[in-house]
Amino acid sequence: MDFIPVNKPIIGEDEKKAVLDVVSSGMLVNPSFEGGAQVRAFEGKLRKLLGVKHAVAVNSGTAALHTVLMALGVKPGDEVVVPSFTFVATANVVLACGAKPVFVDIKDDYNMDPDAFRKAITRKTKAVIPVHVYGYPADMDEIREIADSKSVKVVEDAAESLGATYKGVQTGKLSDAGCFSLYATKVVTSGEGGAISTDDDELAELLRLVRNHGQVHGYDSRHLGYNYRLPEMSAALASVQMDRLDGFLDARERNAKRLMEMLGSVDGAEFTQDATDRTHCYYLYTLRLKKGRDRVKESLAAAGVGSGVYWPVPVHRTPLYQGLGYSKKKLPRTEDAAKRVLSIPVHPGVSQGDLKRVRDAFLSAAREHLR
Ligand SMILES: *Cc1c(COP(=O)(O)O)cnc(C)c1O
Repeated sequence: MDFIPVNKPIIGEDEKKAVLDVVSSGMLVNPSFEGGAQVRAFEGKLRKLLGVKHAVAVNSGTAALHTVLMALGVKPGDEVVVPSFTFVATANVVLACGAKPVFVDIKDDYNMDPDAFRKAITRKTKAVIPVHVYGYPADMDEIREIADSKSVKVVEDAAESLGATYKGVQTGKLSDAGCFSLYATKVVTSGEGGAISTDDDELAELLRLVRNHGQVHGYDSRHLGYNYRLPEMSAALASVQMDRLDGFLDARERNAKRLMEMLGSVDGAEFTQDATDRTHCYYLYTLRLKKGRDRVKESLAAAGVGSGVYWPVPVHRTPLYQGLGYSKKKLPRTEDAAKRVLSIPVHPGVSQGDLKRVRDAFLSAAREHLR
């Protein structure tokens, strides 16, 4: 029996053809301010989906976050409020600007606690980066309101949330700028890649500058920037994937709802991302286990069912951040989540038969390790 991975890229013939066409054309990159034809086509599709004025493709989700902080002018002496329950990129880009990440705790839904954010604000706070963890939107109204009252910029880490909505609005349109990842396992992929969304004309101009070493016409750098351009092959791949997004999202939701029905009554395995004013894109379907998480994971693996722990070590507990002096930081909800969460497969490649295997493996693991 095939192993069912917790996530995997879904690549079809159209993607292969699109990439091959670019390779054959010889137009592999277009190092201009606007980007090449494939980049612009992808950006157009993202803009339309999100209902934003600007989409700027870059070569990773990390680059998206760094580009936004650079464009917002985050610099040494500034503070940026971030969760610790996230992928390390969210905090690393703050360090990359010479600024200080200020970690705050989460709620039961794994997203930033707006009250913790409020309490963390100082005169140095320049921005806040809520993460839509697992593809489930954070409390954006509350975060936005607090940020606005203190003139703090809001940047969404929407790396996991493409297609998710909050009160009817797409993530990535709920703040000054949204940052997406097109990494291989994300909802839509280009292998490696990323994108930024914004409704702010001036910010969009700066984002394009940072993406291209600050150049407009070439050899005319007017702003510090990097090479954060997305290659044309990757953009072509992402562009085809965007056309399939509705199908991907439907499949993920169907699989997640099915697991909810099948596992909803299991004691000690809770699904906590279910507010009715927002929609999940089910990048990850994650249960909170009362106990025995690592043993459940092993038991699933033995039955050919992949699962993932996102994230076993909160960012402030990694050696890098411990060395930077965060060892006394107390984030009890973050640390508790890191011990209990387990994500199980719902990606579009998971069949109805696979779901039954996931159910059987999970029920048997739960009987053994959860009580
Ligand atoms: C994937 C991810 C990123 C980074 O994206 P890359 O494309 O891997 O650079 C940032 N934040 C979160 C929450 C992510 O899941």
